[in-house]
Amino acid sequence: MAGMGKVLLVTGGSRGIGAATALLAARDGWTVVINYRSASAAAEAVVAGIRARGGEAEALRGDIAREADVTAIYGHIRSRYGRLDGLVNNAGILPRMGRFEDIDPARWNETFAINVTGTFMCSREAVRMMSRRHGGEGGSIVNLSSMAAVYGAPNEFLDYAATKGAIESLTIGLARELGPEGIRVNAVRPGLIDTEIHGSAGDAGRAERLAATVPLGRSGTAEETAEAIVWLLSDAASYVTGTTITVSGGR
Ligand code: NAP
Repeated sequence: MAGMGKVLLVTGGSRGIGAATALLAARDGWTVVINYRSASAAAEAVVAGIRARGGEAEALRGDIAREADVTAIYGHIRSRYGRLDGLVNNAGILPRMGRFEDIDPARWNETFAINVTGTFMCSREAVRMMSRRHGGEGGSIVNLSSMAAVYGAPNEFLDYAATKGAIESLTIGLARELGPEGIRVNAVRPGLIDTEIHGSAGDAGRAERLAATVPLGRSGTAEETAEAIVWLLSDAASYVTGTTITVSGGR
């Protein structure tokens, strides 16, 4: 298995947008490492789906908010494949809906630990493997932002919106710092996408409920979001860096 095709790490690939990205990337020839935090059966099902179509994939447990887990994930990738060509910083959490003054520091810190610090640590290890400065061959990083970064998510989850604002700043800075070293860095900014994430905010029916507010008249799918991610990863986007693609149906 080692050395077969370009190697891609998708964080949070056990379901939703991450799983759709893993499936689509594998179809395009990427060997996909699917990270997840706890849903091992779901992650293995994604792997089985990829293998059934003749693709290469494996599932790897690890909490991206824990430095030791991130180190272990990259240690495995180094020893098994000896290379990394793509990273999708997809793992993220959406806290419960509520007003700003009801957010406590524990929740604020957990949201930042996963959505921002996790993305930072995974990106740092990727740079150490991909950068020409470190003997790598370059690569491509795609970060998951959100429309919340733009509208601020008032009365819903300002902490989540702030994490995605940070992701967009990180995308711009990294793209400029790493461009000369052969690494492109971009982001995808999904709008209302029908996944299980809305359940964790205490509003499982959110995507359906707000569908009428979307100019295209419906929520989006994980697959439609994955299309933009996989394009940004690919050589078809070879002159694209530091940009964010909005996938929101116009909302
Ligand atoms: P989802 O269905 O809730 O899936 C989240 C994935 O992240 C799961 O695979 C989960 O794994 C994993 N994960 C969570 N915390 C983790 C951690 N600490 N370490 C490793 N993996 C972790 O979410 P989604 O809707 O596909 O969202 C994916 C990304 O898109 C997120 O960054 C989200 O903020 C962003 N986004 C989504 C929407 C939307 O409407 N759905 C809109 C804008 C942006 P386990 O199951 O093992 O916990």
